[in-house]
Amino acid sequence: MADNRLDGKKVAAGIRAEVGREVERLAAHGVVPRLDVILVGEDPASKVYVGAKARACEKLGMASRTHRFPADADQATLLAEIDRLNADPEVDGILVQLPLPDHLDTHAVLDRVDPAKDVDGFHPVNVGLLQQGRPRLVACTPAGIMELLRREEIPVEGRRAVIVGRSDIVGKPLAMLLLHAHATVTLCHSRTRDLAAVTREADILVAAAGRLALIGPDHVRPGAVVIDVGIHRITDRATVERLFPGDEARLERFSARGSVLAGDVDFARVAPLAARITPVPGGVGPLTIAMLMANTVRAARLRRGIDG
Ligand code: NDP
Repeated sequence: MADNRLDGKKVAAGIRAEVGREVERLAAHGVVPRLDVILVGEDPASKVYVGAKARACEKLGMASRTHRFPADADQATLLAEIDRLNADPEVDGILVQLPLPDHLDTHAVLDRVDPAKDVDGFHPVNVGLLQQGRPRLVACTPAGIMELLRREEIPVEGRRAVIVGRSDIVGKPLAMLLLHAHATVTLCHSRTRDLAAVTREADILVAAAGRLALIGPDHVRPGAVVIDVGIHRITDRATVERLFPGDEARLERFSARGSVLAGDVDFARVAPLAARITPVPGGVGPLTIAMLMANTVRAARLRRGIDG
């Protein structure tokens, strides 16, 4: 069978190369785009993501700073730090790594970020602009999915797109982007009745529910394009063997590392049905960081009135 995988790593490399050229162009204006990340607490996954973001900046010739706070940091301290970064002319992008500890008000913290520096696209001003079809800084994962569809020449206009998941980070902004690209969009969630009947309508099916292998062959119309946003770390061998029967390479990785990643889609059983499908890892994940870099450069340009 021909390999129908959508290679997110390859597409992300293409985006990064373009961002790198933009960075060079900005250097001619004496500008080095800079991303500042706020990290609260010791969540191991958050630390890994923050490290990856800083490395991605360095590789592209951009500057980055990480501002670390203890898990019991209070709201006023964080807001004061955001005010300081908002006022600092050297700072182009501000990202608050989520999730924040429970005692902090996530909305209040995100709302404090200057919309012009909101490279995550979570500020209500940027969400509103997206809703009105005049996007400025758009959430990175949905923006990355749209780039993947565009660069892989997967038609969107007139097609039925079904998204499983209605979060502010993925489902809702992606629905807006697909709608503006003229898809007919359906959003599903935990209260959707007969999920499989709805998802089988999809020409483009996006799984962003945060449920391991939720989407099986019964959920997918043959010939659909399947985009898997979910990321799950599997730490028991029986689950790896059940989800990836006969996948020796994955089992070897599991033996070497003690875990492997998988998505919201039951890849082994859905891939033979799908026209195209993103793997996990190597699908949507790399696109998210590439779009964060693109957003940081865009913020640097827009703030200074430099044309793209
Ligand atoms: P959230 O938990 O915020 O949202 C999950 C959504 O899925 C909710 O809308 C929820 O419904 C819905 N849902 C949950 N269970 C079901 C079900 N059984 N049937 C139908 N809908 C369901 O998750 P996020 O959007 O933040 O993330 C989703 C996944 O994507 C996670 O695995 C996360 O790790 C991954 N992710 C990956 C990124 C990447 O770069 N690849 C970036 C961001 C996230 P309801 O609203 O009713 O509760």
